[in-house]
Formats: sequence, C-alpha cells, structure tokens
Amino acid sequence: MQKVIIAGERRAEVAEAPDPVPVEDWALVRVEVAPMCTEYKAWLAGGRHESIGHEAVGEVVAVAQPCRVRVGARVVVQPQYPCGTCRLCRAGDYIRCLRPYSFAAFTGSPDGQACMAQYVLKPSWLLSPIPDEVSYLHAGLAICGLGPTFGAYEIAQLGAFDTVLLAGMGPVGLGGVINARYRGARVIALEPLPWRQAKARELGADHVLDPRDEDVLQQILDLTDGEGARCAVDCAGTLEAQRLLLQATRAGGWMIFVALAVEPFEVKGTPDLVQTGVKLAGAWHYNLNDYPKLMQVIREAPGLDAMITHVFGFSQVQQAFETSASHESAKVMLEPWR
Ligand SMILES: [Zn+2]
Ligand SMILES: [Zn+2]
Repeated sequence: MQKVIIAGERRAEVAEAPDPVPVEDWALVRVEVAPMCTEYKAWLAGGRHESIGHEAVGEVVAVAQPCRVRVGARVVVQPQYPCGTCRLCRAGDYIRCLRPYSFAAFTGSPDGQACMAQYVLKPSWLLSPIPDEVSYLHAGLAICGLGPTFGAYEIAQLGAFDTVLLAGMGPVGLGGVINARYRGARVIALEPLPWRQAKARELGADHVLDPRDEDVLQQILDLTDGEGARCAVDCAGTLEAQRLLLQATRAGGWMIFVALAVEPFEVKGTPDLVQTGVKLAGAWHYNLNDYPKLMQVIREAPGLDAMITHVFGFSQVQQAFETSASHESAKVMLEPWR
C-alpha cells in the first residue's frame, strides 16, 4: 500500500509499505478520506516521521474472525488503540483508556497504525457506522473536525439560550461554530487572522472579535449583559486566549480547554474559581455513546461543505501540507487512492 511520510522539514512524500493484515477482532479498513489535523506541525518542524495521521473514514475490506463490523461496512475510524475493557473504555470515554494497546506488539508490524495511508487496522468496536446518505467527506468531520467541540458542548450542555465564546478559528474552532449553531447557541468568536475571521462569519458566528483589541473583554461583556458567556472554549491554546476566556466566563459558567496547550496557565482558587463558581474542564474527543448525536449534526447542520475547504489526492500531498500549514484553510482532506 501507499502511505504518507514526512521526510524532512517541509517535505511530505508518498512511500510504499506492506499491506496490514487483520488480527483477532481488529478489522482492515480501506481509507477513502484521511482528514488532516495537527500533522502539519511535524511537517514544519522536520525530522522523519514514518507513521502519520490519526483520522480516517473508509470501508471495511477484511476481518480475521467474526467481529463488530462486516466487510463492506462504511465506517468512521475512531482514534487511538484503547483496550476496550477498562473502566473508561466501557463508559465510552475510551480516548482516556487506562491500558492502550502497543500497536506493533499486538499486530506484529508498525504498518496499519497511521491514517494517512491506503489501509488502516482498528479494533472493530472503534469502527462507527456511516449512514448511507452521508458522504465520506462529511463523515470525515466526525473525528477532530466536529468532535472536540461537540464533546465540550456536551459537558456544558450548551443550548439555544446560551452564548458560547470560542477562541481560535482554526479547523477545530470552526467546527465549534457549526456545532454551536446547530444547537441554536449564539457564537462570539475570537480570532486575529482575517481569513479565519471571514470563515467564522461564513459558518454563522454571530460576532467575530479581534482578541488583540485592547477593549476586547469589554466588547464581550457588552454582548453578554455585562456577565460574560456561560460557556467559553479554548481552541487557540495560547495563554492570552486562556486568560481572556477565564475573565469572560460568567459566574457559574464553564471554561473548557480543547487546544493541546503546553504553556503553564495560572489559575488561582481565589478569585478565579471560588468566588465565581466557574468550572474548568478539558475536552479532547467525545464520548463514543454520543456518536449517533454527532452523526445527526453531520446529517443536518449547514456549513459542512464550507468547512471542507480543500481535498487533495496523495499525489498532491506536498501541496496538501502547504495548505494545511497556511492558516488559510479549514478542514483539509486527503484521498489516498488518487
Ligand atoms: Zn481502556
Ligand atoms: Zn485530529
């Protein structure tokens, strides 16, 4: 099969690899769409990466034994290799599995783990069915396109009477606009880059503010009866965004961390939490039991085609990475068979 590798700084290539072979209750999926996510960071940084990509949708083409999927099923390939038996896996929160598989040790090969490849191997219980009327491209939004903010909104139980404050209009934040509008919530988006500001408006953000404005906090308060938003979600991952969101979350509201930020963020018990009653949470993915709800968003929400700004074949992989790193793209999709 063919797979994408990062061969060095700003160099993505297509390489040959052995076809993976299904084992036990793991199934082999022919990848039809591999959505691009954070991989551009490795492409920018350089080094050699033989196994990249964690998002895929496709068709089950082989199984080793009777399992949870049949050959021919169209499926979303859920991320990671969780055990399926620990407390968190059984509760649907498999993304935080206590005992994930070592892929190569279990399958006997490192190939089949990366999603930017023509085939991928996955425990069959992590292959979620795609309804007939949903295209592979739209289904490709069921992982990091719409998943993290869907998970965040489930935590906050975001609904039509709420305002959500969303920082960072990269692909994950833009997915947060789609999810919020589907729930009927009002969206205040924070984004400094003009292309992303325009895309947020196109997807239905009610207000798009520039977080570099000196009076941005006051602008948010003016839009929220002086109280701030009941739900604030960080898809930016910067300390500036996090500080602003914490200040702009109303008493008793939720501040939810989605971006994979590494800088230490200082929160004081007093006055940040005790006096305000603000609740902090992290959302990485969504609970697997909520998959049918997320698929309902994908079937019914407007704006999915506007969210998918680029589709490239493997033969254009270098251009795909340039686009993904440009900050002038929303979700970029790879099609491995052309
Ligand atoms: Zn587990
Ligand atoms: Zn992702």
